[in-house]
Amino acid sequence: MKQDIIKFDENIYQIDVFMENKPGRMSCYYIDSTNPILIEVGPSKSFPYLISSLESLGINEVKRSAMTHLHLDHIGGIGHMVEKYKEHFVYIHELGIKHLPNPEKLWKAVSEVYTEEWLTTNWGEIKPTPINNLRSLKDKELIDLGKGRKLEAIYGPGHAKHHYTFYDEYSKTLFMGDTLGLIYPHGNFVQPNLPPPDFNKEVLFNTLDELYKLDLNYLALAHFGIHNNPYELIINAKQNIEEWIVFINNLNDMSDEFAIESIRSWVRGNYEFLNIDKNTIDNYINNANFEMQINGIRNYLINKKNP
Ligand SMILES: [Zn+2]
Repeated sequence: MKQDIIKFDENIYQIDVFMENKPGRMSCYYIDSTNPILIEVGPSKSFPYLISSLESLGINEVKRSAMTHLHLDHIGGIGHMVEKYKEHFVYIHELGIKHLPNPEKLWKAVSEVYTEEWLTTNWGEIKPTPINNLRSLKDKELIDLGKGRKLEAIYGPGHAKHHYTFYDEYSKTLFMGDTLGLIYPHGNFVQPNLPPPDFNKEVLFNTLDELYKLDLNYLALAHFGIHNNPYELIINAKQNIEEWIVFINNLNDMSDEFAIESIRSWVRGNYEFLNIDKNTIDNYINNANFEMQINGIRNYLINKKNP
């Protein structure tokens, strides 16, 4: 087993896929039950890391996977996966069935946010996935993990309208995708992740309130890792989202550059006040993409005024 893999509960593996060649940015999970499943594949460029990690666990064939949502840091490697394992199938929101066989439109939409050059360099190009390798999810669908163990797919919009979380009642683990936000290693603090065009506070809070009612031991985040204080983190995420919305609302029509600088120094100040160590703060600040957060919140506020 490679050093950067963490085993928890009896047979769940947290796999760091070195997104953008950095540790602690993107986790995929493998539930090695009687009928195993992979959760998230990560971006295209991370696919070799994912496969070598699985092979280090003695897993030489991955039969199926479940995707939390259609953002390319989560699903970019699917085309590579079905090319390597022809029988592999992927559980995904029905929009995935629409876009993944011909991913040009999805690629173009994401390029408008990140630029094509950035995407190609950092996450890698995506390959089409044949429709026969895709299965659309339904809310509350139960995926069989063997010996009576089930993984429940829970529709959870707010971060994205095509978002599912996955709940394993047996280990009381909720695989969160990006519904909660970001927690980088050593931080016990949730940084909001509220991209346009889908971020909607009321919808996201409804989702978080629903998830809060589950019997939980662990939250497994894509960015990043397993956490054993699920209820505190959900409360913390909601508080921080409220604060960010108020802050960005008060920036009014300040130029983008100015707004980005303002939120960056405000966030840094908040973290310093909490005595979070400098490395963790830098990790948050460097990876936050404040422009996307500002656009996501402004887009939500505009839609709220003019529904
Ligand atoms: Zn993500």
